[in-house]
Amino acid sequence: MSDIYIALGSNLEKPRQQIHNAVKLIGKIEGLNISLISSLYQTKPIGKTNQPDFINAVLKVEGIISPEKLHTALQDIETQAGRIRIELNEPRTLDLDILLIDNLIIKTKELTIPHPRMHLRQFVIIPLLEINHGLCVPGIGPIKDISKSLSDQGVIKV
Ligand code: ADP
Ligand code: MG
Repeated sequence: MSDIYIALGSNLEKPRQQIHNAVKLIGKIEGLNISLISSLYQTKPIGKTNQPDFINAVLKVEGIISPEKLHTALQDIETQAGRIRIELNEPRTLDLDILLIDNLIIKTKELTIPHPRMHLRQFVIIPLLEINHGLCVPGIGPIKDISKSLSDQGVIKV
């Protein structure tokens, strides 16, 4: 049984509805159960700033599934939401990122776990603190310390 943390984000096509719908679909992935859901957060876009604010949240799920299967299942949900892949930091109807799987460190062409940018993103670290303040990012450190190192990125609980 693994403890898995997933980040959700949307800034197009009714973002809150996108997040709620994604949570429902993630709950239906075979072998997984959702155990914790953070509040929703409204956040300023990073990189390309001339796009709508995002709605972000994180989930803890528990279960038995391979990282590759989970990644494929999440990409299927992104596609169902009408996501078109263009570039990094583009507006998107739905972004689902695998943040952590237990203390695993994975680096393949398709998948890097822990998510390589999670420790730079207040919109990930703040909701993670809300659901499990004792969490550590393998190779980086406790999220409490990461949180103190981040400057304000305009993340507001909604
Ligand atoms: P981002 O989420 O950083 O804005 P994208 O969603 O556009 O970027 O993802 C770009 C690529 O990142 C995808 O093709 C996916 O295979 C890869 N990727 C690597 N590690 C992960 C991970 N932990 N979770 C989700 N996608 C990942
Ligand atoms: Mg992504």
